[in-house]
Amino acid sequence: MKVDFHFHSQFSDGSYVLSDLIDMAHQEQVKVLSLTDHDSVAGYPEFCQLASEKGMQAVCGIECSVTWNRQELHIIGLGVDYNHDRLLSYLAVQQEKRLHRAQNMAQRLEQIGFKNCYDKVLELAGHLNISRTHFANLLVHEYGVKDKKVAFRDYLGSRGVAYYPSQWVNIEETVAVIQASHGVAVLAHPLHYQLTTAQLKGLLKTFKEAKGEGLEVISGLQTAKDTQRIAQLCRDFKFYASTGSDFHFCAPFRAMIGCQTPLPDNLRPIWHHDAFQSCGLLLE
Ligand code: AMP
Ligand code: MN
Ligand code: MN
Ligand code: MN
Repeated sequence: MKVDFHFHSQFSDGSYVLSDLIDMAHQEQVKVLSLTDHDSVAGYPEFCQLASEKGMQAVCGIECSVTWNRQELHIIGLGVDYNHDRLLSYLAVQQEKRLHRAQNMAQRLEQIGFKNCYDKVLELAGHLNISRTHFANLLVHEYGVKDKKVAFRDYLGSRGVAYYPSQWVNIEETVAVIQASHGVAVLAHPLHYQLTTAQLKGLLKTFKEAKGEGLEVISGLQTAKDTQRIAQLCRDFKFYASTGSDFHFCAPFRAMIGCQTPLPDNLRPIWHHDAFQSCGLLLE
């Protein structure tokens, strides 16, 4: 059965609106899915409504930005209550940090000649949940930067001249908020952080101690070797295993919604967690 517990809409840095995402998932015969916008649940409850109209089950998801040892990490919350007070207060703080970072990045870009960058990025996004993806699109489409890869390499990535290291909320508080709002916390794409094996194990230990329960074993299209490596860590640390496309837009060598490589055997799938009780009939 097809599932997808990680992808984005225009409420963060994805290119598609909710109804398009639902149509794509439906065409791929996805049964259970979770929209996980960066630091936002603005897509809910509409996303659940649209999913159910197509006979799919949605669980409310989110991708939280986290700072750990001066490193940015992403923690997914699945099955959260999008109305929960503590989650909403947490998100208000994160939104503030996002806007503050956007202002600082725009200021740096304006100093090196990208005029009116701040106003333009707000217009391009159409909301205040500004992501570096919006800046990358702006640099490419308005200011003649070659492509998004160059935009991240030269300007927006951690070595870029306009990089502003945001202080996101920490692991412990993020996991606590996800749990308090009835969700399960999953460490997203563990191989994206360019950590040594020792550092990665240190992170998994910290995440486990903070009561994180899941690991994203599959993130989009990935090599069999990478899959085996994370699957083994998932077993060793006794996490539940999650899977998601991390779909933002259609691009070569990137997974479409529901098109991840399969989860390996001998793992506890995340949908066996209590946070997925509402999907009991669809998921086994
Ligand atoms: P933010 O959450 O605003 O820090 O933006 C991070 C987002 O930028 C990620 O979720 C990706 O969608 C995108 N991103 C990060 N690094 C790159 C890169 N090197 N090339 C293209 N997109 C990237
Ligand atoms: Mn993104
Ligand atoms: Mn991410
Ligand atoms: Mn993502």
